[in-house]
Amino acid sequence: MTSTRDGALWYPYAQMRGLDCQYDVARAEGCTLELADGRKLIDAISSWWCVIHGYNHPELNAVLRQQVDRFAHVMLGGLSHEPARALANKLASIAPRGLNHVFFADSGSVGMEVAMKMAIQYHKNLGIQGRDRFLALYRAYHGDTTGVMSIGDPEEGMHHLFRGYLPEQLFVHPPVGFDNQDSLGRAIAELTAAFAQHHLSLAAMVVEPIMQGAGGFNFYPPEYLRVARSLCDQHGVPLVFDEVATGFGRTGKLFAAEHAGISPDILVLGKGLTAGYLGMSATLANDRIYEAFLGDGPSNAFMHGPTFMGHATAAAVALRSIEIFERDDYLKKIARIEAQLQREVLPIRGSGIKETRVLGAVGVIEVTSPSVHLGLQSFAADRGVWLRPFDRTVYTAPPYIISEVELLQITSVLRDWFALR
Ligand SMILES: *Cc1c(COP(=O)(O)O)cnc(C)c1O
Repeated sequence: MTSTRDGALWYPYAQMRGLDCQYDVARAEGCTLELADGRKLIDAISSWWCVIHGYNHPELNAVLRQQVDRFAHVMLGGLSHEPARALANKLASIAPRGLNHVFFADSGSVGMEVAMKMAIQYHKNLGIQGRDRFLALYRAYHGDTTGVMSIGDPEEGMHHLFRGYLPEQLFVHPPVGFDNQDSLGRAIAELTAAFAQHHLSLAAMVVEPIMQGAGGFNFYPPEYLRVARSLCDQHGVPLVFDEVATGFGRTGKLFAAEHAGISPDILVLGKGLTAGYLGMSATLANDRIYEAFLGDGPSNAFMHGPTFMGHATAAAVALRSIEIFERDDYLKKIARIEAQLQREVLPIRGSGIKETRVLGAVGVIEVTSPSVHLGLQSFAADRGVWLRPFDRTVYTAPPYIISEVELLQITSVLRDWFALR
């Protein structure tokens, strides 16, 4: 007998034997999850960082209903619609310079698959042979589908398990720490050497700019990206930014690329794009990439087209989400969150803590071993906070609408947990 009270439902990244999920959400409002048993939990992690405006947002609900009443979805193969066109134009207007072309898909992972396929086909369309490997970073996370798993950290469990099935990519070590000059120097030397040796086999270089998310929240300096940009230019290698996690303000700028003042050739957005309402991603490309797909017949056309691409309801919600972000000056809200996290998370001390760090609306406590946070999830839930520590990190990445009092409740739980250890 291996089933749980949840019956048929199989949970992600979880050992199902003995699993009994205690957190059954009945409704949610603002930053608060209301459980079926009456408990209320402040969501400290925005449902995997995507619910940027909080839950049950009246304007987003309204725009979703309006679109559903017109039509929920139509295929983008041969048909078109205003929500997809308007969102593409809006994204092109706010994205880092030059990213004028937008291809939609239905999740961050698939958006990244699209980026990889675009890079591969770009070279083929130009008649260049042999450029079919990706240069990626240790500690990277780019999603769970097969192609992008191959560019995730090669020493991490998931990659390891599927070795042999995955294409072999080239990895270099990222700088570790936003202000660590020694680490930056070493990483630049390694990157420069990798380009010198392997550039002719590279389809693209792929990174999460400034903040590596699910691979452990490594923050690294913008200088590294500027060096990567110039090496890519020098060797004719497209540069891909995975901003699925960092896009829409998470690191304190609208896009993390802005910290470095550069544009990639391809940029991928997801997570916060629809504010957590619906699955959607956008893969943006510049003219250089896009023009390699132009021709007189079908032969150079980009070979991809998910069933749900450009989903009209998702597009309508995403567009309104961006309008709210701009209208209500979310970058200012994020700066306030950052200042509060700096005051309240950076000073947290306790045994088992390796480092505390903050960037934008992300506060991270790196611990020496996963055993340090064993029991923290229920400790936090007993105090009205929803956290999901993983591996060597405990973090908060709250919805941007969070109040000072709610955020204080989150940081107090963290402080108290480590004070008791
Ligand atoms: C979450 C994430 C993905 C994958 O997005 P899904 O929507 O879960 O497929 C890809 N890249 C980064 C940086 C992410 O944080």
